Amino acid sequence: VGDSADFDEEIASVCPFCGVGCQISLKVKDGRVKYVDGLDGPANEGRLCVKGRFGFDYIHHPHRLTKPLIRRIDAPAKGLNVDPGNWGDVFREATWEEAMSVAAGGLGGLRAAHGGTAVAGFGSAKCTNEEAYLFQKLIRQGFGHNNVDHCTRLCHASSVAALMENVGSGAVTATFNEIENADVAIVIGANPIENHPVAATYFKQFTQRGGKLIVMDPRGQALKRFASHMLQFKPGTDVAMLNAICNVIVTEGLFDRQYIEGYTENWAAEQAHLQAYDPESMAAICGIDADMLRDVARTFAGANAGMIFWGMGVSQHTYGTDNARCLISLALMTGQIGRPGTGLHPLRGQNNVQGASDAGMIPMFLPDYQSVTSADIRANFEQVWGGTPIDPQKGLTVTEILDAVHEGQIKGMYILGENPAMSDPDLDHARAALAKLDCLVVQDIFLTETANFADVILPASAFAEKTGTVTNTNRQVQMGRPAVPPPGDAREDWVIITDLAQRLGLDWTYDHPRQVYDEMAGTMPSLDNITWDRLERGAVTYPSLSPTDPGQPIMFANGFPRDGGRAKFTPANVIAPAEEPDADYPMVLTTGRQLEHWHTGSMTRRATVLDAVEPEANCSLHPDTLRRLGVAPGDLVELTTRRGSIRIMARADRAVAADMVFLPFAFVEAAANLLTNPAVDPFGKIPEFKYAAVRVTAIQTA
Ligand code: SF4
Repeated sequence: VGDSADFDEEIASVCPFCGVGCQISLKVKDGRVKYVDGLDGPANEGRLCVKGRFGFDYIHHPHRLTKPLIRRIDAPAKGLNVDPGNWGDVFREATWEEAMSVAAGGLGGLRAAHGGTAVAGFGSAKCTNEEAYLFQKLIRQGFGHNNVDHCTRLCHASSVAALMENVGSGAVTATFNEIENADVAIVIGANPIENHPVAATYFKQFTQRGGKLIVMDPRGQALKRFASHMLQFKPGTDVAMLNAICNVIVTEGLFDRQYIEGYTENWAAEQAHLQAYDPESMAAICGIDADMLRDVARTFAGANAGMIFWGMGVSQHTYGTDNARCLISLALMTGQIGRPGTGLHPLRGQNNVQGASDAGMIPMFLPDYQSVTSADIRANFEQVWGGTPIDPQKGLTVTEILDAVHEGQIKGMYILGENPAMSDPDLDHARAALAKLDCLVVQDIFLTETANFADVILPASAFAEKTGTVTNTNRQVQMGRPAVPPPGDAREDWVIITDLAQRLGLDWTYDHPRQVYDEMAGTMPSLDNITWDRLERGAVTYPSLSPTDPGQPIMFANGFPRDGGRAKFTPANVIAPAEEPDADYPMVLTTGRQLEHWHTGSMTRRATVLDAVEPEANCSLHPDTLRRLGVAPGDLVELTTRRGSIRIMARADRAVAADMVFLPFAFVEAAANLLTNPAVDPFGKIPEFKYAAVRVTAIQTA
């Protein structure tokens, strides 16, 4: 941190990491970002975590792609075999003209030979809203189908499925800052001190002024110190525990009858369903004492204002949608929604996963979650898009697209900013699919693991090099601004997408992201009254009810956007994880993020400070487990599941239950997803990253 003499200019933008969406000031000197300060944004009020403050210098890393690359004719077979700093045996530099010609020729050639469905697209939640809008439009308009998806499928797709089903909207009903007006809050399946650190500061302040914090997680965590109730339940038993809490609310008459009668439907079915979930029976399943379940039920139902926050510990299960249904039911039966200090808040992961989903980068919805199956909605978009017909069939999701590659139906892909060679479950399967493609075009800022498999690599821009809007977990739309130019010949992503679209025959004439935003906002009622000019002046929360309304932090005070205006109870059954521990694989593997590292590590492992703090692949085990295995902290262990094996350094962590392993997924040298189970939730199609049966063995050293 320095003073104004230390920099030439300062640019206001938005942190590129988590969904909190902290506003930052980029201090620039001699064409480089020197340091970062927090700004007084609506979500952060000047606060930043270690990633936002110190995680920026990857943008100047020598591994940055500065020229388009084309796979050499004599390159070795496709595989994870390219050094990102020394790629000359595999790729050669090319001009933009040649690279774009090869990219468009490859993808367009597959379209001509096999039809548009031979090509699919993965975008990224790191895209701006405008880039996400263009990307999904390119796939839908240019290839005539909806096979376009991004990492929301690996994140909160099941939460969105449950919210859409029961509330009628996939976004949060209240900003996380509303916790200031709550007196009780539940945080389940989330570890905000590590994963949403600035949001966690608001949670801690809430407890300091007397708020009761109920933390539910199979893994202990730092927020436990601030909790009035800590429920460290057995992994895989979320529905049993939540239904037991709801059972108490029903049997003790703690529900809000007036709210239920005024604003909900299907209550009778929910009540009947919950009878089977008495706390004594469920305690034996979830491992939480029945009295604790009762106390939590009474505390939450008795609150004047209660909120529910959840993370991927809820969503990344084969029953993730059922988990979210339980949380929605809990809020509805207690009337904890639509008022200050109440609401449902799935803490969104990436900086723009909310916005990229809103912009339609998902296979079943056009922008604003408007269904591709509706003829009226398609007709509206067809008119805006110049008459090209839109496919009425829902498209394939991330894991389904890779399956379709294996089956030979998809032969080409355009991947923008996503890294499925690290982020998808059962990586051997995912990497084999990427290797099988006849044409893979990857657009990114680094030669990622996915780019290893590319035929053409298009050098793109980091957040600090481009203009565009992003939408955080709070529904706050904010403007990102360029502080430095892209390195070498790298280009802004919207420019590359537009160029490719034109070469594929589309009549696109965009010349600035603002033009894209205007078109996008014209198709999205949620952005009514939110103009580019307003966003240039500051953040706006959607929905905004007038040109001067800063936006609504709380939604659904007077009903829900469903037929009849009522929210719905959808009863949830207990479903076992897709695979359970047995004699061969006796423990439970769960995966997640660490404070210092971000997703597949492509950015944070190239950020000097973050990599210095957390340089080595590691997993966490309880000290008793380490002792049982004869392993000292710092030793290597081998983790083996039905998909594969990795060797990794073991840490002692009392927060991890004795029968669990916690494994971060940012480290390519011990990639967590070589082990994870590709089984998916039937509604959200999200893989079960949070539960796999695993065997842990000590590595015998000489
Ligand atoms: Fe960035 Fe999230 Fe940290 Fe804020 S909390 S600085 S958005 S990583």
